[in-house]
Amino acid sequence: MRLSPQQFWRVRENEYRIFVTVCGSCGRSAVFKRSACPYCGSSDVRYVESSGTGVLESFTKVYYRRDSSEDDLPKFVGVVRLSEGVRVVGEIVGVRGDELREGMEVEAVLRRYASDDPYGVIYYGIKFKPV
Ligand SMILES: [Zn+2]
Repeated sequence: MRLSPQQFWRVRENEYRIFVTVCGSCGRSAVFKRSACPYCGSSDVRYVESSGTGVLESFTKVYYRRDSSEDDLPKFVGVVRLSEGVRVVGEIVGVRGDELREGMEVEAVLRRYASDDPYGVIYYGIKFKPV
């Protein structure tokens, strides 16, 4: 999805940081800010910023590239269980495919997504790298 610079500026808080919604009713957690708990529906929620560290639970090799992406292929995408207990999916960078292992510790890093925007905006976002 292509965002205008104004739209991207408004959502930047969630693009550059990982938030976890913690439910005050059932105690479960969910990734991203949510106005209600996805498990029990309670609106008694609070937000915690993730430390960005976690464990790589699984990964796969991807040969698809968006038109605006500058990524080299193949790239690796994994499921990361954050230290807050929730799972997120993200690209794994800074490691060769034969070095990837399930269970390895990773941390969130800010990396470029694309820069071919007609407005001249360089898009950054969260990816993960081994610790
Ligand atoms: Zn709940």
